[in-house]
Amino acid sequence: MEKRGNCPGFLSITTGLYFPIVLIIVVIGLYARFPDLAWGIELSKAGEAGVSAELAVMRSKSLDSLGYNVYYRIVEGRDIRGSVNISFVFKGLHSESASLPLILDFAGKEISGVELNGSQCSYALRDDHIFINSEHLAEGRNELLINFIPDERPFHREKDFLYTLFVPDKARMALPCFDQPDLKANFKLTLDIPSDWVAVSNSKVVVDSIRGGLRRVEFARTSPLSTYLFSFVAGRFLRATHTSGKYPMAMYYLASDSARARRNSEEIFRLHETALEWLENYTGIKYPFDKFEFVLIPSFPYSGMEHPGAILYRSSRLLLTGSPTEMELLRRAGVISHETAHMWFGDLVSIKWFNDVWLKEAFAQFMADRIVEPLFGSIDHRLLFFTSHADRLYEVERTPATHPIRQTLDNLSHAGSLYGNIIYHKPPLVLNQLEKIMGKDSLRVALQDYLESFSYSSADWHDLVKILDRHSKEDIASWSEVWVERAHRPEITTEVKYDAVGRISSFKVKERYPGEESLFWPQKINVSFFGPGGIEDTTIEVYLNSPVVEVGIVRGRKVDYYLLDSTGEGFGFFRLDPSLAENPAKVSFNRAIERAVYSFQVWDYLLETGNINPEAFATYLYRLFGKESNGLIVQANLNRFRRFFWDFLPSHLKLNWGGRFEKLFITKMESELPPSVRRAYFKAFCACVLTSDGVRSLREFWSGEKELEGVEFSERDFCDMALELAVREVDGWQDILERQLSRIKNDKLKSEFSFVMRAASPVPEIREDFFDSLKDPYNRRHEPWVLSALYYLHHPLRNYDSLRFIEESLDMLQEIERTGDIFFPKSWVETTMMYHSSEGAYEVVKRFISEHQDYPQRLMRIVRRAMYYLSRSYFYKIRYTGEESSN
Ligand SMILES: [Zn+2]
Repeated sequence: MEKRGNCPGFLSITTGLYFPIVLIIVVIGLYARFPDLAWGIELSKAGEAGVSAELAVMRSKSLDSLGYNVYYRIVEGRDIRGSVNISFVFKGLHSESASLPLILDFAGKEISGVELNGSQCSYALRDDHIFINSEHLAEGRNELLINFIPDERPFHREKDFLYTLFVPDKARMALPCFDQPDLKANFKLTLDIPSDWVAVSNSKVVVDSIRGGLRRVEFARTSPLSTYLFSFVAGRFLRATHTSGKYPMAMYYLASDSARARRNSEEIFRLHETALEWLENYTGIKYPFDKFEFVLIPSFPYSGMEHPGAILYRSSRLLLTGSPTEMELLRRAGVISHETAHMWFGDLVSIKWFNDVWLKEAFAQFMADRIVEPLFGSIDHRLLFFTSHADRLYEVERTPATHPIRQTLDNLSHAGSLYGNIIYHKPPLVLNQLEKIMGKDSLRVALQDYLESFSYSSADWHDLVKILDRHSKEDIASWSEVWVERAHRPEITTEVKYDAVGRISSFKVKERYPGEESLFWPQKINVSFFGPGGIEDTTIEVYLNSPVVEVGIVRGRKVDYYLLDSTGEGFGFFRLDPSLAENPAKVSFNRAIERAVYSFQVWDYLLETGNINPEAFATYLYRLFGKESNGLIVQANLNRFRRFFWDFLPSHLKLNWGGRFEKLFITKMESELPPSVRRAYFKAFCACVLTSDGVRSLREFWSGEKELEGVEFSERDFCDMALELAVREVDGWQDILERQLSRIKNDKLKSEFSFVMRAASPVPEIREDFFDSLKDPYNRRHEPWVLSALYYLHHPLRNYDSLRFIEESLDMLQEIERTGDIFFPKSWVETTMMYHSSEGAYEVVKRFISEHQDYPQRLMRIVRRAMYYLSRSYFYKIRYTGEESSN
């Protein structure tokens, strides 16, 4: 997230023309009128930079009936100028904060005067806030008028258009406001924009006229919205409309997208209509806003953002080209349904505070899955659900640095740190379990009750739990305690007893949480049993509603083997039968979901226990790739293979196994498998090739001497090949890099390649210079480029040398957080550490952790997570070879 690094607050405005005036106001403001600004403990929290939780609570109690009349003047080549009239009912401050000033949020560039109820009023500007003496406020309705210059970052201004994106905490950069999701307000927007632009916002246009060479667009007053949902787009957009359905719709797009927009528009409108209809039916509530429009923007950073009445999408997610695959079509329907579902879950009923950001995301996705499923009958949705979430969820959940779904958020400025794998990948599983436990109908009735009760308002998770509890036979409050408020996962094992002739006499499933024996996660899982010869099989649903559950139905049966959580809907470390550790390839499964679950459990078991030796695991994967044809399962296992091959497989086994896998991957690349699966094998081959024959093949693919029939390599694929060849220091590597650079047609990719190739260079000094250049935030501004470069800098074939960069990279983490996007700190550490498994790396990270005991927890978690994988691979190799620091 772009933080306040260069937002002018108190200090920077004092350097401007208004220095003497402002200084006087500030001095008087802070020390004469608000002596408690300097000393008051409560105010020091409420008034700290950003929006503290204390400030948010205080304001929700004292303010009501908010409205903003917002005006922006947008002229090419000039700063955006704005004014805002904020109307609110002041209910008085609650007793313990009676002497506090009214605190607005503003992290823009400048304000030029504040009027309160028609008269100029003194104010202080400090730490992203405007402080106004509350003694001047009238009991009841008040009006503030403020002229200002915003910070332009949340306006995403380009030559022909701009769009605003305030989520989660950037509204205060764009205008003075009370920037917290539960202080919903009606917005009335007026824009002056270039005369050949159009504008779209949350509500309908009521006036559109040309005056003084500019276009004036006035929008109707909106329904109550959270500040992060207020948005507009303006620019040279074209418009397609759809009027035959229940709601008229409009889609805005740029001229560069027009051919693709024409081809796709009908289907895009249809998908939105299907989603709207489904949601109205499910919720029993009509579409809650006054119009339905959406805007397609090529550079939009997310797939979509649910601004009511004006959803923004990244155009490539909706405008498909060529003959899209079933998965691409499904993803498009998914994102449309997700954003449409937010109109109810997130927009009509909003969260109170961003610690519940997971809640709106989880329900939007839950609804989207159910909308999309019947539209794509040929896709195995259960398998897709499992492969979409399991690896990503447990990547974090199995480490000691995991966290509960619901986290505390002390200041809105840190909202970015809440996002991550747990927020995205655990709630889908949790809601799935909630539906199993409550039943589909009860859950639906409860959600209808929740949406009705909090329409156009906001609610937190506990408000919803109370409603769920009312509609359920189960104790949802206790259920929520473990599922939502707790971190970590239980271990789930079996205890099986046999009679004299080998029939089951008792089959128990046990949930265990180390240290708290009575704790368990109530859940419904499936267990599959495979009879003699693997022919007969039965799947039984087991409700784990206590720490030990007996599965009576299999008593007296002969069973060869069984699979816990065979449909992948449970939560925990499902411990593999230890007898399979020696040879995981001993058992096989017909159903794709079972193969996916089993291969995940094998990998999970290796990571958690280290009890599968490297040769046994390599053999297992080798056989799996030999016969598996399902693309989702192949892809998941290729990802595990890369990690295993570089980090876990001891070096004395690498060349031999490397050669065998290379040959297998080449066979698969040239097989009859679908092109997407063959491509996946090619990518794995590229990343892991080791033998001289393999490297020669890679070079032939790069030069075009070899091709894969039916698989077209993109410019980016050729870039990756050239970089992998350079890392392997093949003869003529310099020539390969230069030729690759000169043959790239796409300008952006060309710039990216010339940036990344320095990190892949075989010359250590060039790599050193490159790393030094990253210390300047300006050189980190293209974050995906940096991550791609870090991969090559720390390439597994290089990590003996790149060890020297680890310490400094960790030292930079706080600054990375300050200057980078919300996901950047995590990706920075992960990409740096991904392929380090040596003693040297282990010692550096261990020292960093012990020397930074007071480090912010959100960042330390990232480091500890990296440490988990580093220590697992380091000790695994010692265990199986005594090898300590060979790479
Ligand atoms: Zn969402």
